[in-house]
Amino acid sequence: MLHNLYDALDKKYAEMVEMRRYLHQHPEVSFKEYKTAEYIANFYENLGVEVRRNVGGNGIVAKISGTKPGPTVALRADFDALPIQDEKDVPYKSTNPGVMHACGHDGHTATLLVLAKTLHEMKEQLTGTVVLIHQHAEEFAPGGAISMIEDGCLEGVDVIFGTHLWSTIPTGTIDYRVGPVMAAADRFEIKIQGLGGHGAHPHTTKDAIVIGSQLVTNLQQIVSRRVDPIESAVVTVGSFVAENPFNVIADTASLQGTVRTFSEEVRTQIEGEIERIVKGTCMAADSSYTYAFHRGYPAVVNHEEQTNFLVEVAKSVPGVHHVQETAPQMGGEDFAYYLQHVPGTFFFTGAMPVDKTKAYPHHHPKFDIDEKAMLIAAKTLGAATLNYLSIEKQEKATV
Ligand code: MN
Repeated sequence: MLHNLYDALDKKYAEMVEMRRYLHQHPEVSFKEYKTAEYIANFYENLGVEVRRNVGGNGIVAKISGTKPGPTVALRADFDALPIQDEKDVPYKSTNPGVMHACGHDGHTATLLVLAKTLHEMKEQLTGTVVLIHQHAEEFAPGGAISMIEDGCLEGVDVIFGTHLWSTIPTGTIDYRVGPVMAAADRFEIKIQGLGGHGAHPHTTKDAIVIGSQLVTNLQQIVSRRVDPIESAVVTVGSFVAENPFNVIADTASLQGTVRTFSEEVRTQIEGEIERIVKGTCMAADSSYTYAFHRGYPAVVNHEEQTNFLVEVAKSVPGVHHVQETAPQMGGEDFAYYLQHVPGTFFFTGAMPVDKTKAYPHHHPKFDIDEKAMLIAAKTLGAATLNYLSIEKQEKATV
């Protein structure tokens, strides 16, 4: 049965590449992926697969029901692009100025569509149901996952699998991790209200730039002196704005930054630590402030049993040479929300271009993937699905 799946996917590889390249040429940014959503939904409709449009926004959910009852496996692929100008010199370069598939979500979509087509062809032999979740807006908080879940995309789902093609991991490698694998990604905003005035009369002012500078320095204590060194965290001030003529003392300063954590406890701790430091620093300078902490995606926390299951499956997938545990990484992913509702795992499929000088990191204007990785991703997700639905067991019983 698995060999039938692998053969069928091999035969559809050219179609997969063609779809990916079409999507790559027609990228749309988060929450505006109308044509991409239509493309996906039409694909299912043409196949005669049950499909629901506008799930929680631009999301698409398709369902393939086997002829016999059994468990329900969900597979998720995201399909939004980024506001980045494509600087690659390839025939399938983006035709939408300033918008680019710079994270490989085009590849995720082509992978899942072709896998779905293959599973649909095999549905007489399926024991159970496969739910295909095509998620909009992964790149921009609050993301598409929450609204799709609220709109019922996980109803009846027993397990969920998702993968990210990764341009800095060699093709043929699968990276997995039990527990936290991607960080919670939050944003904070601080506005300092000082007292502006003449650059020659500092004693009559409360210099918002000096206060803000102290603040940036003081915030460095959080990770170095407040968070348990065994835990991981990042506090980054990415924006400090207090624009003025050269001879004027700033009345206000605005700071923005990001916080990355793996545990809810540390996340909440840092939210409070920032405010305490802002409050203390401003109090010392006799000035006031506003502070807002915007929670983004929570950490992606993989379930142990389902991750180990995936690891065993991946080891026998053709084209997979290494299945290795990865260190957690500080990027964010709203796959986190699915894992808060149902067990499952999110893993990385190596997709490094064969010419390593073309292996750019994600979100780079020259980002590209090794398209062969899509086939490996499809085989791994497909094998996980079939194994979970116990087709193998059934086949052995009838042979
Ligand atoms: Mn991504």
